[in-house]
Amino acid sequence: MKLDQASIENAVKTAYADHKDDTGGENASYIPYLASVDPALFGVCVMTADGQLFEMGDTGFEFALESISKVFSMAWAMEKVGLETFQQKVGADPTGEPFNSVISVALHGDAPVSPLVNAGAMSTVSLIPGDTAEDRWEAILQVQSAFAGRKIRLSDEVNESEQSTNFHNRAIAWLLYSGGTMYSDPMEACDVYTRQCSTLVTARDLAAMGATIANRGVNPLTGDRVVQAAHVPAMLAEMTMEGLYTASGDWAYQVGLPGKSGVGGGILAVMPGKLAIAGFAPPLDPAGNSVKAQHAVAQVARSLGLSIYKAS
Ligand code: GLU
Repeated sequence: MKLDQASIENAVKTAYADHKDDTGGENASYIPYLASVDPALFGVCVMTADGQLFEMGDTGFEFALESISKVFSMAWAMEKVGLETFQQKVGADPTGEPFNSVISVALHGDAPVSPLVNAGAMSTVSLIPGDTAEDRWEAILQVQSAFAGRKIRLSDEVNESEQSTNFHNRAIAWLLYSGGTMYSDPMEACDVYTRQCSTLVTARDLAAMGATIANRGVNPLTGDRVVQAAHVPAMLAEMTMEGLYTASGDWAYQVGLPGKSGVGGGILAVMPGKLAIAGFAPPLDPAGNSVKAQHAVAQVARSLGLSIYKAS
């Protein structure tokens, strides 16, 4: 592992330059807003567990957090109900199915299977304590902000675009309800889940969110403890098993860092105790992972010799 400033700076610059002109992939189109984002945007950054930032490209552009939000809601639900209850009520196993699979709810019966697919993510939201949907939503927004170290806000435009097209997720929410693994009103959980996907972050924010995970739950920018250190391994385990949709296994083989991507084009990878790598570029491959950001993040990891499966 070479983690001095010059090596990290060089890794970020080189990965950006090498992948800036990568072609292929398409913006997600099932959410109308995402189809309209400039496909040429591209940014890569690293934040170390002590808060040093290295960045190249469009790292200040705000994009929709989407599926990456699942990691932070999972963290908050675990914080509130405890790790064992969370595992028992939401499940922890990889599904091998696309993120929005109905099969992962319909066939598995007693738990949705993983908090990082839509079914488990909505079940997760329904477990977050609150008298109303607004209480749960405020808690989620605060936890996203605490991980990022700045106030994260909802994009009304993204939210409206998603709320008017999220019929598939509403169906999943009702299936969870009928199976007994939806712990609040299903349409409220779907609404709050859709909002949590519709917040705006930059690649810098993502790197800070990841650096908080790398720093065992303490945000290196604010010094605030966001979640217990004891829950961080479960977050990392889930990211490894389910973080890059159906390509999670290939990512684990080839890159070896717990990661999470979102259909907004963001991707985050974490080397526990050391740093986080974040990338953003809207066009996605068929599995739903950003083409350029995926390649750039993998290259930074490789060039710094990072993998949780290699001895340092
Ligand atoms: N809001 C999106 C959905 O539920 C998030 C999907 C994703 O990023 O994987 O369809």
